[in-house]
This record gives sequence, C-alpha cells and structure tokens, in this order.
Amino acid sequence: RPRVFSGIQPTSGSFQLGNYLGALRNWIALQDTHDAFYCVVDLHSITIPKEPEELRENTRNAAAQLLALGIDPERSTLFVQSHVPEHTRLSWVLECLTGYGEAARMTQFKDKAARQEDEHVSVGLFTYPALMAADILLYGTDLVPVGEDQRQHLELSRNLAQRFNSRFGRTFVVPEAHIPTDTARIFDLQDPTAKMSKSLPSGVVEFMDDPKRAAKKIRSAVTDNERDIRYDPENKPGVSNLLVIYSGMTGRSVSELEAAYEGSGYGDLKKDLGAVLSDFLTPFQSRVRQYLDDPAELDKVLRRGAERARAVAAETVRTAYDRVGFLPPV
Ligand code: ATP
Ligand code: MG
Repeated sequence: RPRVFSGIQPTSGSFQLGNYLGALRNWIALQDTHDAFYCVVDLHSITIPKEPEELRENTRNAAAQLLALGIDPERSTLFVQSHVPEHTRLSWVLECLTGYGEAARMTQFKDKAARQEDEHVSVGLFTYPALMAADILLYGTDLVPVGEDQRQHLELSRNLAQRFNSRFGRTFVVPEAHIPTDTARIFDLQDPTAKMSKSLPSGVVEFMDDPKRAAKKIRSAVTDNERDIRYDPENKPGVSNLLVIYSGMTGRSVSELEAAYEGSGYGDLKKDLGAVLSDFLTPFQSRVRQYLDDPAELDKVLRRGAERARAVAAETVRTAYDRVGFLPPV
C-alpha cells in the first residue's frame, strides 16, 4: 500500500475548521487505501514561544481530537513528533542542503515573522520547512494530505529529496501533495481575505468551542451589503467562504446550495450553517472527552504509534547518515 504522512501542530487546545476541511478530512479518508502515519508535530509548535504546561495539554488534546475525528490507531500510526528523535536527526542534514535564500522565500515564514516581535522570530521558525521535509521523507511518503498553505513547503520537501538523491544516491521517495480542490483554503470569518488559523484568534471556528458559540461565530461572519447568495470569491469573499464551508460539511455542491438559497437572505444561510456545525461538534466533543478521560489508553496509543514510527524512521536515518558519510557508530 502506498504511504501517507501528515502532521498537525498542537498550537492551541483546539483544531479549527480549516484544518478539518483542508487536511484532516483527507487524513481520515486515506486510511482506507494507504498505510498512514499521522503526527502531532510538537517540535514545530515551539517555533513560536509556548508555555510548557499548555503545550503538554494541547498535545494530548490534539491526539484526542484526531482519534475523535476517526483516526483509527489499529490501521494508522498515530504518534507525537518529539517521541521519535529521528525527526531532528534528519532535519539537520536537510537544513545543510537548504539554501538560505531558498528558506527566506517561504511565505509562511514571512507572514508569521511579521506577526512576532523581532526578538521572538526564532531561527527555528526559519528552518521549520527543513524539519517538515524530514517528517515526510523519513517515512518513504508517497502522498501528503495538506491544505493549500502548505504547498510551498511541500515543494521544498520534494526539492530536498531530489537534491539529496542526486548528490548521495537514491534514498528518498519524492512525495506528492494531496490538496483538496474545493476546500483547500478556508478563510477567517472576520477577515475573509486571511487564512483561518489556530494562531489568529479572530474569526476562527474552533472545534472545541461550545457548539452554540460556534454557531454564533457563523452568524456574525463578515459578509457584504448585497443580499444575493452567490459564489464569487473576488467580490463576495465572505459569502463565498460560507458556501465553501457549508458544501464541505454537508457534501452538497456550491451550485446546489446557491439554488436552494435563491431568494433567501444571509441570515438564513448563516443560521442553517450554524446548525450544521453544531450538530457536527456536539458528538465530536463528547468523543474527545472520552479519550481525555482515559489518559492511560491515550498513552498506550501514542506509545505504540511511536514504536511503529521509530522502526521505520531509524532505518531511514541509518541509510541517510551512511550516504552522507558519517562514520557508523562504533
Ligand atoms: P498555525 O496557525 O499554528 O500554523 P494552523 O491552523 O495553520 O495553525 P497547522 O497545524 O499549521 O494549523 O496545519 C494543519 C493542517 O491544516 C495543514 O495541512 C494545513 O495546510 C491545514 N490548514 C490550516 N489552515 C487551513 C485553512 N485555513 N484552510 C485549509 N487548510 C488549512
Ligand atoms: Mg499553519
């Protein structure tokens, strides 16, 4: 079976709607056809300063949310990045193959750096894409389900795999991005020109929000002062974003929704979408609580995941280190 790898940061205590529609939905679906490795990428998370106690809690929350969404630890390898030291061992080698200018062109670095005080822009935030390449290349990954915002990082991973292979001999599989066509980029509800993101707490539907609060966020989403419900991302970004979200959550196409809401106002659309979300979140959150209430079981899942991941990752690092010319440990 072809291999899938993807990761999600435990940045906050909750996933957001964009994570689900852009990536996690595909994580779940690909379990049926692929050998999947899914990772809570806590090492990536400290590229922006984090409180230790919060990070620990958020990492457990992230694992519980993945299980509650349907990641099945019997079929997929679910683990925490810092439990598998091979990620940092390989990332060093890849950092040394990454050009400074190449890394400086990453738009996510530029965006995130612009949001930080200067003294908080860490070298780790800058080298993050090399660590992400290591995450992927360690597992001989064929396919990486991610949202549109990761396309550039994935392109770098592909380049690094090819660069390593041509310099040291064929070692890494060159991975393909798997990005949805319809829901690749979900926008912030208060600023529908910005990406919805865990680390920007404005118009974000958080999966651990009280379902009533989530519905309220949809009701107060920024739209425009026309009244027709029509998909037109250029002129009507707010309404278009709501239609894409609605379509993603229900499987009804955008044109079907346009037809169904012809003659209705934004209020109707928002009320119905709010109900769709709250019907999704209520049972999801009760499953999350069940996983969080049984920390021993959660630990067991993560321990087994880390063991399975290490078995693959250690072999890759051994080969890569040998090709680079490091002496075998004596
Ligand atoms: P952070 O602000 O900490 O970067 P994030 O919400 O961007 O948080 P990540 O952990 O960086 O979350 O990304 C997890 C996955 O979710 C990635 O595959 C990413 O492409 C996807 N993703 C994140 N935001 C969106 C979005 N607004 N629309 C579609 N996909 C998204
Ligand atoms: Mg992100």
